[in-house]
Amino acid sequence: MQKLAIFGGTFDPVHWGHLLVAETALHQVPVEQVIWVPSLHPPHKQAAVFGHRLEMLKRATNDNPAFTVSLVEVNRSGKSYAINTLIDLSACYPNTHWYWIVGLDTFRTLPHWYRGHELAQMCDWLIAPRLVGGETIAQSELICKQVAQQLGEHCYTIRWQFLHIPLVGVSSSLIRKSICDRQSIRYLVPESVRSYITIHKLYSDKSE
Ligand code: ATP
Repeated sequence: MQKLAIFGGTFDPVHWGHLLVAETALHQVPVEQVIWVPSLHPPHKQAAVFGHRLEMLKRATNDNPAFTVSLVEVNRSGKSYAINTLIDLSACYPNTHWYWIVGLDTFRTLPHWYRGHELAQMCDWLIAPRLVGGETIAQSELICKQVAQQLGEHCYTIRWQFLHIPLVGVSSSLIRKSICDRQSIRYLVPESVRSYITIHKLYSDKSE
């Protein structure tokens, strides 16, 4: 049975933090491929045009043969729900053991996702540490255990492990803000992404 990992996100824009997380998943588990799934209509976010986000993602990932960008979200109408992504991808890739890559900030909201309890046990969770609330690593582990316990109360079990990456403080919102404030984003995103943003004048309008 092959092992594949899904990495869902808004990728608005994709940055080095995302790439490091995906590369670590490839080698740590290891998985054969990371399937990047940009959300078409993220449930809780407003995002740049899908075509731009997709193009930047393709440019950032095309030098790694183990990275695939999936258009599974494009073929579906309505909000982008993770469980539908996993169901659709399972039909495309039968005989697969699935992993889901997620940052700690996103993972802690899993019990509130649409059919999150069901999804939780359909794959293994690869959690990237991320100190958005100023937590220590020990506290991060506690948060994961609490999520697992919350799901356990509903008789759902969950398999998870931390990805061994150094903490990376880069976020898409930081990049959008930096551009808006006319600060450099060099070394925060791949050069191919930076030049795409420059050519298409993305994120420079303060009213966006
Ligand atoms: P924003 O700042 O707009 O909220 P983001 O940087 O969190 O965006 P997303 O595309 O929303 O980017 O994230 C996709 C996934 O990658 C999420 O699970 C998120 O937690 C994770 N992630 C993003 N950046 C990092 C990072 N620096 N370290 C660990 N995980 C990350």
